[in-house]
Amino acid sequence: MPFVPPSEKQIAEALGDVINLSEDIQKALTIQISESFQSIPKPGYWGWLNQRQECGQTFDSFEQMSTKAIPHSTFKTIYIQPIGSFDHPRAPSLELIGQFAQAFFLGCDVTILPMVDFNESMKNRINSQTKQIQYQTSGLLEYLVRARNQRDTEKEILCVAVTMADIYPDETYNFVYGRARATDSTGVYSFSRLDPLFPMPPYKSMNRELTDVDRIIILRRCIKILLHEICHLFGLKHCIYYLCLMNGANNEIEMDQQTLFVCPVCLHTPSVIEQIPELLSTTNNYMNTTSENIHWRLIQNIYNFIMHLFDILGLKYDLTFVDDIQSTRSIQQPKSTINEKDHE
Ligand SMILES: [Zn+2]
Ligand SMILES: [Zn+2]
Repeated sequence: MPFVPPSEKQIAEALGDVINLSEDIQKALTIQISESFQSIPKPGYWGWLNQRQECGQTFDSFEQMSTKAIPHSTFKTIYIQPIGSFDHPRAPSLELIGQFAQAFFLGCDVTILPMVDFNESMKNRINSQTKQIQYQTSGLLEYLVRARNQRDTEKEILCVAVTMADIYPDETYNFVYGRARATDSTGVYSFSRLDPLFPMPPYKSMNRELTDVDRIIILRRCIKILLHEICHLFGLKHCIYYLCLMNGANNEIEMDQQTLFVCPVCLHTPSVIEQIPELLSTTNNYMNTTSENIHWRLIQNIYNFIMHLFDILGLKYDLTFVDDIQSTRSIQQPKSTINEKDHE
């Protein structure tokens, strides 16, 4: 059945009851949303929403979910476990990815574990199209469960594996970008297909110059995959309401279309709100103004947040990143009274 964009009424229902939130956050989540966030374009034939039946997650169904990670004071460490070598000139920097994850999930502690190698218990196959090795996700997830006693279980809220190898869930699939298993708070994500040179084999691509454009594309996709999948483990399902970090993606075009932040419907989940308290409290400071400025302030704040990350991480500003933010807002920027100090 073709994807039918949700009506305003369905979006309002998904957003749920916002009456218990602060007045500022209520405004941010409800006023002028349709002008501030873009709806999802009609999916192509191979598009996620054309291939899958997604009904969208409502706030009420989120609340009723029993299998979601809920951090508390000491139980809040996200472990990232690299599996297999990242020693490739086009591999993304795990350190940068870890810093982005830390900035996004401010309420948690992100720890990157020492790399471990593939072992015999991790089932693999040769993909018939790429002729390259692929590992089955269940073997990698089982490894994370078995190795849990080597991590600090008092602190661990979830553990995700990242790998440069291609992965697949079962024989009926050609590949998968990642898989989250909420029942034991584990996930596995592959960066192998995120290089624009894919399916060029690693031994060939290592001799190709890594341009700045490619480096940014690869890093941006890796960050999106990781944040998206960790949000799954925090209980967020795929979003059908707006262009959003939580949109499903069947290919790199759809992945590039996802935003680096979540839409208001996805934002209205306790986990996410708790994960980014500083971002929201900074936003809160901007909310004591007229309602027409509220969304611009919210967007501007997220934009500055991401640009600030660029500064920290030494990345070059890149127009495609900027587009992520600016495309969400078509109206003119109102006169800004944003206090630069708030971006620190
Ligand atoms: Zn997903
Ligand atoms: Zn969303």
